[in-house]
Amino acid sequence: MPLEPFDQICPAIACAELRVCTVPIPELGVPTGDYFLREFYCTEPGCDCRRVLIQFLPKDGPAQPAATINFGWEKAKYYRKWSSDPDLWREMAGATLERFAEQGPHKANFLVIFKHIIQDRTLVAAFRRHYRLVKDLIEGETSFDRR
Ligand SMILES: [Zn+2]
Repeated sequence: MPLEPFDQICPAIACAELRVCTVPIPELGVPTGDYFLREFYCTEPGCDCRRVLIQFLPKDGPAQPAATINFGWEKAKYYRKWSSDPDLWREMAGATLERFAEQGPHKANFLVIFKHIIQDRTLVAAFRRHYRLVKDLIEGETSFDRR
């Protein structure tokens, strides 16, 4: 699944709807401050994996992600077709740390914070909408050169 940053696929919408997560108190040992949620979506034509990859990027600080998290909003069964290993497809539903991506020292705490903020249905609805935008763009462009 090739993942591309939403801010490169739909820059205007990504900019207008950029999510900021504020950590107001030293919650769970995570440094306080604002974190941008940078979204990445799969751009493989015909793939309907219904997931987002989120990077927590400190607004003021090094441009290194504090955490990189996978989030699949469908029920676990939906992801069965991607793997014969039940542990793997079950893991695709819900939020997990991306094991092959850059992580900060507080990654596990950011995962807890992320699980908390996705209780906000408008945030999940935004991910789904952005995902759909990306997919519609990809499907509409399959016969053209994207560059
Ligand atoms: Zn995909």
